[in-house]
Amino acid sequence: MNKYLQIGAFVILGGVTGYLGYANQQNTARLERLSTNLYSLQLSIASTTQILQTSIAQTHGDLADALARQQQTVQTQLGTYQQQVNSVAGTVTTLQKLSKTDPELLQKYSKVFFLNENYAPAELTEVPSTYRYSDAKHNLIATAVWPHMKQMLDDATAAKIALYVFSSYRSFNEQSALKKDYKVTYGAGTANSFSADQGYSEHQLGTAADFITSGLGGQVDGFDKTAAYKWMTANAYKYGFVLSYPSQNQYYVFEPWHWRFVGVKLATDLHNANQYFYEWDQRKIDEYLVNLFD
Ligand SMILES: [Zn+2]
Repeated sequence: MNKYLQIGAFVILGGVTGYLGYANQQNTARLERLSTNLYSLQLSIASTTQILQTSIAQTHGDLADALARQQQTVQTQLGTYQQQVNSVAGTVTTLQKLSKTDPELLQKYSKVFFLNENYAPAELTEVPSTYRYSDAKHNLIATAVWPHMKQMLDDATAAKIALYVFSSYRSFNEQSALKKDYKVTYGAGTANSFSADQGYSEHQLGTAADFITSGLGGQVDGFDKTAAYKWMTANAYKYGFVLSYPSQNQYYVFEPWHWRFVGVKLATDLHNANQYFYEWDQRKIDEYLVNLFD
């Protein structure tokens, strides 16, 4: 009986051992599979993380790009608005300046286009006696022109040039009387050649003046032979003055003493182009009206 028990126990033990061995083998295989699964899961996570990171970076980049583009667009729009505002402001300023500037001041006068006999400058200032050739005469000049003229006369004096105002503003009636004097002295046929008919004269504008220097015996004749004329030819444009009737011009006799204020910008451009006021097209001249007193 005992023997049988022992055998039975051995058989059971063997079975259990065998089973355990088999089970162990199965577990090992399962562990290996789990481990492999785990590894591939890790790989998958890593790859997903990589994809997510790339995607996030890309989205971030795209967003930043979109934002930058939007900013650019807004800035461009703002710039455009600013330009429009500036342009409108500029136009308003230009219109304001133009509305205050007498268009006659840059007109060319001739036998076909002349000043109305009732025309009078907006405001006149008396040229102080130190700048006048003769104390007996009262010379008036357009108030807006005077600072430019004064600067020119002061700079001429500083350059040791004797330069004085001989005659500046003349009303229609004064011009008319002057012409009669010339007629009496020289005869009707010659008066037009050196004193503009009343109404054609730039002197009525209040922006033109005849200049004189010492040593001419109180006459303007011969002014073109003087140092004062040479100085004015080289410098007057800097103060906005131009010689209205240069020698050999087609419009009028040579008047070396007669200078007209047309503004620094126009005078400079005429000087640089080596041309004179009456040669230029009126439309081209009109563009300078807004800068006349700059
Ligand atoms: Zn004159």
